[in-house]
Amino acid sequence: MHEMSYVIRFVNRAIETAEERKAERVKRILVSVGEMTDVLPEYLHRYYPSAVKGTILEGSVLETKKEPVCVLCASCGKEYHPEKDNGYACPRCHGTEGKITAGRGVVLEQVELES
Ligand SMILES: [Zn+2]
Repeated sequence: MHEMSYVIRFVNRAIETAEERKAERVKRILVSVGEMTDVLPEYLHRYYPSAVKGTILEGSVLETKKEPVCVLCASCGKEYHPEKDNGYACPRCHGTEGKITAGRGVVLEQVELES
């Protein structure tokens, strides 16, 4: 299950963030899961408790949200959500050369510290 490697990665990032802010406990973290990944949030939730055991994150809540794919059109600069119906082309100029700017990874969005 490759989800575990994602969990370890964002847990480590969250620990770093918490340590940088000199926190003693973390209450909640928010992770966005890109639409283009094959990561299932339920697995992230399943592995989370064992991944944070014994760390500053132990007992914290993991929240996940879906992040839609976003493409930046190389021809006209429009950012859009690719739709299958038009062959994932840009809705403004119909260009198909674009760069994916969001929705491709598992990203740590927020670390909420206990105050
Ligand atoms: Zn365009």
